[in-house]
Amino acid sequence: MALDGKVALVTGGSRGIGAAVALRLAEDGADVAFTYQHNAELAAGIVDRVKQLGRRALAIQADSADSAAVTAAVDATVAEFGGLDILVNNAGVGFVGAFDETPLDDVDRVLAVNVRGVFVATQAAARELRDGGRVITIGSCVSDRVPGPGMALYATSKAATIGLTKALARELGGRRITVNLVHPGPTDTDMNPADGPYAADQSGMTALGRYGEPAEVAATVAFLASAESAYVTGATLSVDGGHAA
Ligand code: NDP
Repeated sequence: MALDGKVALVTGGSRGIGAAVALRLAEDGADVAFTYQHNAELAAGIVDRVKQLGRRALAIQADSADSAAVTAAVDATVAEFGGLDILVNNAGVGFVGAFDETPLDDVDRVLAVNVRGVFVATQAAARELRDGGRVITIGSCVSDRVPGPGMALYATSKAATIGLTKALARELGGRRITVNLVHPGPTDTDMNPADGPYAADQSGMTALGRYGEPAEVAATVAFLASAESAYVTGATLSVDGGHAA
């Protein structure tokens, strides 16, 4: 299988896109560690499903806003599985609200998870990644097209991952480590349910007229994790149903 013998760490892997990524990487042969914030029960369920696929699994409670916890999660992965080949920066928080009323506490909270957390996880992982490794970050379609007002904070946080991805591609290319970004469009998860109050508008903004499934985002992550993508780095791949078309 494409990822036999590889070790992956997925941040925010207990639900939604992160859980789909964890399961897909395991299906493709990787041992998988993942972080979560609150829901230990859901995390244990994903551990069981990875093990049923015949792979090793490790769930780690680590708030992405807590740099010590994020670094410890990287260390725990290496200690458990003997190395690290793939980091998927998936954990993220949403925010919708009027720009002029956005509390600065929320600015700090969202940037701490969506930007600083990605920076810290990648910094810790880069020390451990084997040559030819992979860094894959989950951005957002709002970096390409902001669909309406209320998105200033979230769009700011996700746009930061574009610069980080390109800079790190330059930083890590000498070790054949590729660094890429995936921009999901509206994807059916707890964060953005396909039956939520804004769902019809979001579907209408895609070329395909529908929400994506977490597994559809995971399929592109799996490609970027595989050897087949070895010459793809510093790139952004949209899995957005044509939201940006
Ligand atoms: P969900 O809210 O459905 O799931 C979030 C996952 O991340 C959970 O496993 C949760 O753990 C974990 N998590 C949340 N906050 C933290 C934190 N501070 N530290 C560690 N883990 C955390 O989100 P999605 O699956 O929808 O989103 C995944 C990524 O995709 C995010 O980066 C999001 O911004 C991005 N995205 C999503 C889109 C969508 O339409 N769904 C569109 C574009 C981008 P726990 O269960 O313990 O809370």
